[in-house]
Amino acid sequence: MSEKLINGLKEQFNFELESGYLYLSMSAYLKGKDMEGFANFMFMQAHEEFDHAMDFYNFLYAIDEEVEYNAIEKPKNKFDGFTELFKEALEHEELVTQKVEELYGQSLEEKNYKVSQFLAKYVNEQVEELDTFRALVKKFERVGENWNGLYILDRELSMRK
Ligand code: MG
Repeated sequence: MSEKLINGLKEQFNFELESGYLYLSMSAYLKGKDMEGFANFMFMQAHEEFDHAMDFYNFLYAIDEEVEYNAIEKPKNKFDGFTELFKEALEHEELVTQKVEELYGQSLEEKNYKVSQFLAKYVNEQVEELDTFRALVKKFERVGENWNGLYILDRELSMRK
């Protein structure tokens, strides 16, 4: 297996943690705006990213590699409203998708079946993530500044467990 592929997997482990940290920061911003449902959604999303990170972690140790924790930059903590925040989350997921697909492509090039197999679920996962965030951005755009709509949406996102 190439250094490029191994280092890519290790970087992805750290990037999943970084994603989780960004979503926690978004959650705190939303909580500060008293939108408990939106905050809950992002809090749960953060935990999903930490689960992804640990999945990469366990996979790396399973193939006899080790991980190092990188420094995580201070995440953005101010946003230009709810729609903008969710748009930024969508953009972040587009970046994650790009990284996962590059890694997957690299594993196919190297005919590394175990890595391809492992990454395939993340290629699928990203289709779902992009769909979820795209749908949310659309809802936020439609609702705009309408407080009735925002309250209903907040209620909907409070359901995520
Ligand atoms: Mg993830």
